[in-house]
Amino acid sequence: MHRYRYRCTVCRTTSPVVLDPDDLDAEGTAHRQGVHGGHIPDDEIAGQIDRLGRWYAALSPLAALHARIADGLSDLRDEKTMGHYWWASAGAALLIGGTAALTLLLIAAAL
Ligand SMILES: [Zn+2]
Repeated sequence: MHRYRYRCTVCRTTSPVVLDPDDLDAEGTAHRQGVHGGHIPDDEIAGQIDRLGRWYAALSPLAALHARIADGLSDLRDEKTMGHYWWASAGAALLIGGTAALTLLLIAAAL
């Protein structure tokens, strides 16, 4: 399940979480029409967020990878909520660390 938010940096407001990109467009359009007369605020942000409410585009690649794995694991338990379960966050860290360790072992064995 994907989650999206719209943020207006002029008003310093963020939309509620929506689950469909079309709903995200509607949030942005409604805000622009209602508050800014159809103008597009500078630096507005709209896009997919993780279960912690962070924009994927604003995360470092490693943090984004961890967030995507933890999101996927948490969605196995409950798709409707926000936040990561502790075991999903730990599982994502173990998976990334294990993959890195395995890669190092394979490289060391090949040399
Ligand atoms: Zn605004």
